[in-house]
Amino acid sequence: MIKESDLQAEQASQRKVVPAGDYYMQELKAGQTLRILDLEGNQAADTLFYSAADPSERYSAMDTIREQGNVYLTAGTKLLSNLGREMLTITADTCGRHDTLGGACATESNTVRYSLDKKCMHACRDSWLLAVAENEQYGLTKRDITHNINFFMNVPITAAGGLTFEDGISGAGKYVEMRAEMDVIVLMSNCPQLNNPCNGYNPTPVEMLIWDAA
Ligand SMILES: [Zn+2]
Repeated sequence: MIKESDLQAEQASQRKVVPAGDYYMQELKAGQTLRILDLEGNQAADTLFYSAADPSERYSAMDTIREQGNVYLTAGTKLLSNLGREMLTITADTCGRHDTLGGACATESNTVRYSLDKKCMHACRDSWLLAVAENEQYGLTKRDITHNINFFMNVPITAAGGLTFEDGISGAGKYVEMRAEMDVIVLMSNCPQLNNPCNGYNPTPVEMLIWDAA
């Protein structure tokens, strides 16, 4: 569902451009709104959320999909935790569809899907592991890396029930926005994948903007 935001970029309290292949890790307080802006289009932002109070409570694709009765995420979606609590609500979306089934790229899956010599290519899972190692203050470890959201990524379900990676439906300047319903840790890998069309074979930067509660 396409829904524009009323928020003005000039009034954001924080703005950060994240290059492809880099990560973003930031605490978001309840009531703050986060926008992920696809600067050049066709990018994928692989994102995990944790409760800041207790990171063992984290985003759950299963609970979110089951409760909304829809496999795609868009404006109006409530992102639920593994305890069934609301973590964030998607409040605006100019892309219209986001994936939470496809998972993130890893050197292991690159090897299986593409070829053995892709093992050395940088992947989202590496960025998350680096983020966790460089930000010990959040208390996360390798075992906390779980199921994620691929913002802007187009992974349609086929008539036969399969999943396919398709060309993105996002474009330059499209964004998705979500309001935190509890204090959360945001961990986003700006995907460096070069072997499938999730980035249009050209990974590009995204911008992260935060607005304080009105
Ligand atoms: Zn990736």
